[in-house]
Amino acid sequence: MIYLDNSATTPVFDGVGEVARYYMTEQYFNPSGAYAPAAEVEKAVNRARKRVLDALGLHGTQNGSIVFTSGATESNNAAFSGALAAMRGTGRIIVGAAEHPSVYDTAAKYSALGYDIKTAPVTPTGCIDIEAFGELLSPDLQLVSIMLVNNEIGAINDIEKLYTLTKRAVPNAVFHVDGVQGFLKVPFNARYCDMFSISGHKFHAPKGIGALYVAKNVRFLGGQTGGGQENGLRSGTLNTPGIMAMEKAIEINAANESSSVDTMRACKLRLAEHLLRIDDVLVNGPAPVAGAPHILNVSFLGVRGEVMLHALEEKGIIVSTGSACSAHKSGPNRVLSAMGLNSKRQDSAVRFSFSPLNRPEEMDEVASAVRNIVTILRRYKRR
Ligand code: PMP
Repeated sequence: MIYLDNSATTPVFDGVGEVARYYMTEQYFNPSGAYAPAAEVEKAVNRARKRVLDALGLHGTQNGSIVFTSGATESNNAAFSGALAAMRGTGRIIVGAAEHPSVYDTAAKYSALGYDIKTAPVTPTGCIDIEAFGELLSPDLQLVSIMLVNNEIGAINDIEKLYTLTKRAVPNAVFHVDGVQGFLKVPFNARYCDMFSISGHKFHAPKGIGALYVAKNVRFLGGQTGGGQENGLRSGTLNTPGIMAMEKAIEINAANESSSVDTMRACKLRLAEHLLRIDDVLVNGPAPVAGAPHILNVSFLGVRGEVMLHALEEKGIIVSTGSACSAHKSGPNRVLSAMGLNSKRQDSAVRFSFSPLNRPEEMDEVASAVRNIVTILRRYKRR
């Protein structure tokens, strides 16, 4: 099988599952316990916190804290609820037009509660339109939530610029970044945000573990309440197997970051080069060299994305037509619509997403399978 749906999820790296198992079978103690083995686990968890901060370019814990969560959906929801609960009144919230539903739909929920939700438009390549964003900055702005990398088309937002603009206009506004698709893949330093969400299973850790970084200066009242774990910011017994497995995955990613990124980019560019030789093929999103190294979204005009997906699946090649989260939704694709792409282009869109476990040579086989499918389906259609 050639697996090219790594933006949906990834297999764990070698060694990562073993770490999870160790914290389930040997070091299974509750880190909140008062005995020595529990303290050992707590120490390990704090080492994992430091590892996440290091990967965000923040060395040492003095800049902020890491709250472990069940994944980015929880991190994104907690970013909204924890930051807004600490503010007075219902002011403005800005989200990007191409955000993941865990941000976009969460903002809609706050609209019903009386907040003034503004959607920052994206350019035809899927990046936040910086000028239009600037016009939305009002004195009552409370929260901004913008993704680092778009999960469907791989556009990279200029977070540094958006953050700087926001802070210059409204210093007290909180700036949250959904970093899921950019973490460990595109360069980023978390000093350009107040909060940052990650999800382990997007970078070869297990599902069900993630984190929210919260900068020191941010008033954050946390997510779920209960036993007071995570300094009272996220109650619930810590998922130590997940946390330690995620630490291991970050360690492996960080140790090989440049070669991993090179491999993903080489796969993407090689496939793009092949595919663009086929007639009526268009890249959705930024030019392949300009986008994130691991996401390529392409429309094969006249061939429905879903048909392409299943035809490729028969040949052992796994891709998707968009994000896994919207795979079962019908109707127009919100992200591609926001970019101004017409329905023909939306219906024929396919997302290929890569990991360091793919090999550039495999892309020749993928491209030849795609070419055959396109030829057969287009011939059939013309009859
Ligand atoms: N944000 C983005 C950009 C994503 O790609 C995803 C996963 N598709 C999420 C948030 C949610 O992550 P999870 O499903 O792990 O909670």
